[in-house]
Amino acid sequence: MLAVEGLTVRYGDTVAVDRVDLSVEDGESVCVLGPSGCGKTTLLRAVAGLVTPDSGRVRWDREDLAGVPPHRRGFGLMFQDHALFPHKDVLANVAFGLRMQRLPAREIALRSAEALAMVGLGGYEHRRVGELSGGERQRVALARSLAPRPRLLMLDEPLGSLDRVLRERLTVELRELFVRAGLTVLFVTHDQDEAFAVADRVAILRDGRVEQVGRPEEVWHRPATEFAARFLGYTNVTDATVRAGTATGAWGPVPAAHVPDGPVRLAARARAVRLSPGGPLSGVVESRTFRRDHFLLRVKVVDGAPVEAAVTGADVPEIGDAVTLAVDPGAVVVLPPQVPPTPGPIPGRDDLHRISTTPARLLDGQSLSSSWCNTRPHSARPRGPSSWSRTRRPSPRPSPRACAPRDSRWRSLPTGPRP
Ligand code: ADP
Ligand code: MG
Repeated sequence: MLAVEGLTVRYGDTVAVDRVDLSVEDGESVCVLGPSGCGKTTLLRAVAGLVTPDSGRVRWDREDLAGVPPHRRGFGLMFQDHALFPHKDVLANVAFGLRMQRLPAREIALRSAEALAMVGLGGYEHRRVGELSGGERQRVALARSLAPRPRLLMLDEPLGSLDRVLRERLTVELRELFVRAGLTVLFVTHDQDEAFAVADRVAILRDGRVEQVGRPEEVWHRPATEFAARFLGYTNVTDATVRAGTATGAWGPVPAAHVPDGPVRLAARARAVRLSPGGPLSGVVESRTFRRDHFLLRVKVVDGAPVEAAVTGADVPEIGDAVTLAVDPGAVVVLPPQVPPTPGPIPGRDDLHRISTTPARLLDGQSLSSSWCNTRPHSARPRGPSSWSRTRRPSPRPSPRACAPRDSRWRSLPTGPRP
């Protein structure tokens, strides 16, 4: 089991990772999700031992790994840009770390074949990496990090550079692979779909700090903070006041059982907003965007913040039309009032997509060849080859720790819609 405790990494004045607590149980997949620059890669590098934390600890099964060099941690790290050798063939790429470990040739052949089979690339051994498709290269990189049989597999934006269709397919495959092989996985991404589809638990990272940790459905339906809510697509946010279990504001009454009286923020996805004659919000359509199964309307509301509504059907209003809207109270999340600690816009989905298409670079130019294959020595590994094909036991997941805002009054509020 991996335990990260109070981990802090600074680069000069930049606090890239800020007192992070996080655990990954054996056989569990945990995803750290956050926008570009929030410290995801630095967190992985600190766990791998490639950067030294300023404070805090990384433990494996209670053992403090401070002073344990990367290649003795038994962790595999797949870098964001895959960092394959384009002129070598698939086998040479996959076997690279095993050769660095000076394993016997038979063992290298066995493990390489095993890793390639796991990612569905059996028979690709002698294909040149430069001639493979993006999806195939991604699999080769995955096979390379699997071949040394790491006790912890870490993936940095594993599907970030692939096109949408391929990403969606490989998302399903990754999940299947993790479950089938019972892998213990820590991966990071800015992509919500990837995080929620693949992970057993999701941690939202903001400016180096863990904002919320929980099971995917819990975090998705009950973001604990305004940052988490906005990041997860709750684009509509407004002020309201709670009195006796009801929040009242521009959206009309919203149930807020167990929420203390006083100011709150309400958040809702565009899908929670509908056209409604006589609804509490009236305004004019500012923009109208086709989004596959709906039109996304942005409505300038009289005396209020603009509201986004996902509208389906035949009669979708046009730009300039006057509309009235209602927000489904059951789909509203009640959040504590909070002032964002750092200025600057929170990236929306489109920003994030743009970020995802930017090729990632290594942060400090460190030689990949020495760092991607961090692997525990073969002799130290208790599991044999058969462990790769064992079925994941239906282990009870650790109880999700829905991290609450720092105001303790909010710690256990059952706010928001139910999954
Ligand atoms: P992410 O992977 O979430 O995009 P990073 O971990 O790469 O975030 O970066 C977190 C912060 O640390 C950013 O502000 C980034 O500019 C900074 N940073 C990352 N690596 C270095 C480095 N080697 N030197 C200085 N600053 C760095
Ligand atoms: Mg990164």
